[in-house]
Amino acid sequence: MSESVTNWAGNVVFGARKLHRPTSVDELRSLVAGGGPLRVLGSGHSFNRMADTTGDLISLASLPRVVTVAPDRKSVRVDGGIRYGELAVQLDSLGLALHNTASLPHISVAGAVATATHGSGVRNANLATVVSGLELIDGSGRLVTVDRDNPDLSGLVVGLGAVGVVTALTLDVVPTFPLRQYVYDNVPRVAIEAHLSEMLADGYSVSLFTDWTGLDANMAWLKRTEPMSGEWFGAHPADGPRHPVPGMPAQNSTDQSGEPGPWHTRLPHFRMEFTPSAGAELQSEYHVAATDALSAIDAVASIRAQVASVLQVCEIRAIAADDLWLSPNYQRDSIALHFTWIADTEAVLPVVAEVERVLAPLNPRPHWGKVFTMAPSTIRSAYPRFDDFQALVRRYDPAGALRNEWLDAILGP
Ligand SMILES: Cc1cc2nc3c(=O)[nH]c(=O)nc-3n(C[C@H](O)[C@H](O)[C@H](O)COP(=O)(O)OP(=O)(O)OC[C@H]3O[C@@H](n4cnc5c(N)ncnc54)[C@H](O)[C@@H]3O)c2cc1C
Repeated sequence: MSESVTNWAGNVVFGARKLHRPTSVDELRSLVAGGGPLRVLGSGHSFNRMADTTGDLISLASLPRVVTVAPDRKSVRVDGGIRYGELAVQLDSLGLALHNTASLPHISVAGAVATATHGSGVRNANLATVVSGLELIDGSGRLVTVDRDNPDLSGLVVGLGAVGVVTALTLDVVPTFPLRQYVYDNVPRVAIEAHLSEMLADGYSVSLFTDWTGLDANMAWLKRTEPMSGEWFGAHPADGPRHPVPGMPAQNSTDQSGEPGPWHTRLPHFRMEFTPSAGAELQSEYHVAATDALSAIDAVASIRAQVASVLQVCEIRAIAADDLWLSPNYQRDSIALHFTWIADTEAVLPVVAEVERVLAPLNPRPHWGKVFTMAPSTIRSAYPRFDDFQALVRRYDPAGALRNEWLDAILGP
C-alpha cells in the first residue's frame, strides 16, 4: 500500500495492498464481489490485528450519512460508517437518545457493535444490544437484511467483521434524557470491599478508576439523574474537573460540575473535539461475572506492583447481561476490568499475560477489540454459542473472503 495506514493507537500497521473509500453502497458491493481477501476498517480504535488484511481494506467513512428515525420514534436507521459523535448530536436535536455510550464518541457505530463495545451501568447492556436490524453485504457479495424476527441476528451483531460488511444498522432509541456527572476522589478499599455492588448501582453509569499504586481507588465517576452532595462511601467530591488518566488535561473530559446536560454530553468521559484517553497507549479489558467482581479485584491486587509498572489507569465498570452469542456479557451480568497501558507492547504483553493468569479461574472474556494473549481455545470455551457462530461464518462467508490471520486463530479449525 503506498499510503501507510495504522490503527488509532499506532501499534498496528495494516498490511493491506490498498485502502478503499467507497462513496456508495453499489461501489462497496462491487468491491466485495471481487472476492477478497478484504476487511472493513471502522474508525480504527481497536488495538489488535482484527481489522487487518493482506488484501483490500475498506473504510466506510465516505458513504453518505444516513440518520432516519422510524415514524414511531423508537428506532433509527444509520449507515455503516457513522460515528457515535455525529449520530448523538443529530438524535438529541430530534429529542432522542441512545441508552448508553462508550467512554468516547469518536468510534464508528458498526465497528463498536462488531466488538460488543460497552459503557457502564448495572442496568445498561452493551451498545450492540440495541441493534434491531442489520443490512450487510455477505462474503459472496449479496445484500442481506436481517431483523429481530430472524434468529441469526443474535449471532451476526457482534460479528467481528467476519460475517459481512455492515452497510446499515437499525438501533433502538429512547426519548432524550438529561444526566449530571460527579467525580469523587479516593474511594477507600474497605468501602469497595463492603459496598461494591451498591456503588456500581448508585447512578445510571458508574466507573471506578485506580492506578494500582495503592489499594484505594483514585476516583469514582458517577453519571446520574439525581443530584448528590457530601461524601460518597468515604470518598470526597473532587475539588475541580478531572481526566481519567493521571496527568492528562481535564479540558478533554466531559462536564463534571453536577449541572444537568444532554445524555451525550455526560455519558462519554471524553469530548469529541479532543483526543480521547491518553493518546499514546494500549488497552486490554476482561469481563467476569458480576458476582466475581471482588475476586477479580483481589486477583489484580495480588500482582498490583507489576500492573502499576506499565499502567496509566484501570477502570472498573458494570454491564448488564444479554443474549448476543459473542458478547462478553452473554447471559452474565458482568464487571469489566479495563487497563490503559503505556504504549510499549514489549513491556506490556508479559503483564497482560499475568493479568490473564490471575483472572483465569474466573473464566474471563476479553474485549474483542483490545490486546489479549489468551489462547483462542480458552476464549472459545467461554462462549456457549461459539460453535453456532462458526457455522454462521461458514454460511455468510463460505469462501472466506473476510477471513484474516486474527480471525483464523480465533475461529479455530
Ligand atoms: C481511547 C479509546 C477508548 C475506548 N473506550 C471504550 C469503551 O469505553 N468501551 C469499550 O467497550 N471499548 C472501548 N474502546 C474500544 C473500541 O470501542 C473498540 O475497539 C471498537 O471496536 C472501536 O470501533 P472502530 O469503529 O474503531 O472499530 P475498528 O477498530 O475499526 O474495527 C473493529 C472491528 O469491526 C469491524 N468492522 C468495522 N466496521 C465494520 C462494518 N461496517 N462492517 C463489518 N465489520 C466492521 C472491523 O473489521 C474490525 O474487525 C476504546 C478504544 C479507544 C481507542
